[in-house]
Amino acid sequence: QYIIKTVEVESAKAKQALCESQSRNQYLQEQVGMQRQVLKEMEQQLQSSQKTVAQLRAQIMMYEAELERAQGQMLEEMQAMEEEKNRAIEDAFSRAQVEMKAVHENLAGEGGAAHRVTQLVLGGHATCPSPCLMPAGVRTNLLTLQPALRTLTHDYNSLKRQVRDFPLLLQETLRSARAEISQAIEDVHSTNRELLRKYRRELQLRKKCHNELVRLKGNIRVFGRVRPITKEDGEGPEAANAVTFDTDDDAILHLLHKGKQVSFELDKVFPPQASQEEVFQEVQALVTSCIDGYNVCIFAYGQTGAGKTYTMEGTAANPGINQRALQLLFSEVQSKAADWDYAISVSAAEIYNEALRDLLGKEPQEKLEIKLCPDGSGQLYVPGLTEFRVQSVEDINKVFEFGHVNRVTECTNLNEHSSRSHALLIVTVRGLDRSTGLCTTGKLNLVDLAGSERVGRSGAEGSRLREAQHINKSLSALGDVIYALRSRQGHVPFRNSKLTYLLQDSLSGDSKTLMMVQVSPAEKNTSETLCSLKFAERVRSVELGPVSRKAELASWPSQEQLEVTEGLPGDSPGTAAPSGRGHVSPSPGQLSSRATSIRRKLQTSG
Ligand code: ADP
Ligand code: MG
Repeated sequence: QYIIKTVEVESAKAKQALCESQSRNQYLQEQVGMQRQVLKEMEQQLQSSQKTVAQLRAQIMMYEAELERAQGQMLEEMQAMEEEKNRAIEDAFSRAQVEMKAVHENLAGEGGAAHRVTQLVLGGHATCPSPCLMPAGVRTNLLTLQPALRTLTHDYNSLKRQVRDFPLLLQETLRSARAEISQAIEDVHSTNRELLRKYRRELQLRKKCHNELVRLKGNIRVFGRVRPITKEDGEGPEAANAVTFDTDDDAILHLLHKGKQVSFELDKVFPPQASQEEVFQEVQALVTSCIDGYNVCIFAYGQTGAGKTYTMEGTAANPGINQRALQLLFSEVQSKAADWDYAISVSAAEIYNEALRDLLGKEPQEKLEIKLCPDGSGQLYVPGLTEFRVQSVEDINKVFEFGHVNRVTECTNLNEHSSRSHALLIVTVRGLDRSTGLCTTGKLNLVDLAGSERVGRSGAEGSRLREAQHINKSLSALGDVIYALRSRQGHVPFRNSKLTYLLQDSLSGDSKTLMMVQVSPAEKNTSETLCSLKFAERVRSVELGPVSRKAELASWPSQEQLEVTEGLPGDSPGTAAPSGRGHVSPSPGQLSSRATSIRRKLQTSG
């Protein structure tokens, strides 16, 4: 064979075949190489798959173990639930039995048989007698009882559910209630804040309105008060009533004097039936303006016995302006206590024969002087005048009592003495606004004037005459001052009497004055009543619109000023002579025509 091959090699054909075989052989070998490569890759793949399989198997085993454990747990839980269920059923059953028993006991009519049968049926006893043995009534009873039992069981279950859910429900309800409550509290809080803000604004507004009201009513007002006829007026024609009123106008009063009717117009007239309270109501705006720092004077004017002391002091059971004013001041001050500190103090003084005495001092007989403040403010003060701080009605009563005792011990006959002297109660209200530091001082002067009756010149002599002259002088001076202020004269004769000098800063500027003219309605008093009403009308008869003092002085030549005051002694600047008493005042018509002339002159001068 080898030879043959060699021969073949020798041939060209053989050479070619060899060549082909060799290339084929090479190709096959390449193929084998490639196949080996593929095989190797496949082996690698196989290995990695085997690894994955092993991992998966381990996982499966783990899951299986877990599953088994879960199954065990589930079985346990199921068993526990089963037990619980059985217990609940037993429970329900025993309760139902108890209830059934109770129902049976109620069924007394059916007797022991029904009771026994039902119990047997419910208990499921083998010894149960055949139903056909039961009496018919018992059977129907049993039939009706079964649905009752079913409803009972159902109710019991739902109750159990409710009991289980109750704590949750309670918690939930509590939570929402708490939320609601805090929301409500928050709402109330914000409403309160808003209300407080509005309240403060209203307070401011009230003060403004109040001041405006007092301004509109005028700073000097004249009221009349007619007292009722009393036993002291006696009987018969002397005690007849001589005063009548206008039903449509409470500022008008008619006096029948010597058969003629004379009419007067004041700012307001109180008839005899007007109570202390009604009178005070008209006065209280003045009193409260004291808290805002205004000075106020309230005078009671009139003949002795006309009711001055009754109006100012009143009686214990029915107090007058003095006590009511202080009470009002206390309550007003209290209502502002949140923002303001107030101190209220009182002094009591008496002016007798032009001598000023301190009714609250240790030495009431000592005469006091009125002096200019050394601080250069131009204000007046009375060195040595006692001032008591008061905080309650009890304090006021003590002060009043003390003042009374002092007054009584200083005279032999109080009635006579008090009718011949002026009694002053001076209330000072000092305020401090805590937030702004603003200080205010207001003075309220409550004056029970000496009797205005004219003393017959022939009958009076000595000390009685001197008293009469002093009273005359000071009441006229008061009238002159009020007239001058009300008619806005340049010169106001404050210095003409102790009273007007003492009250100077409470009468001038933006102070407010009220003259309460007291009259007796009795026939025998008509001439004094006439005088008092003329005095009243005189002080209120001249009134001009608001005008500044400067403008007034600039536009008033002295000639015209004289025209206005002509025939009115005491009105002209510097006149110290007593006037008024026995003197006939100009009629309202005369005065109003003068007022018109002044007003016209002021208007033309712009
Ligand atoms: P005056 O102080 O002016 O001298 P009073 O105030 O003492 O007068 O009054 C004299 C009498 O008249 C007293 O008894 C008083 O009680 C009584 N009186 C005065 N005004 C009234 C009144 N409005 N209502 C009841 N009684 C009055
Ligand atoms: Mg009196």
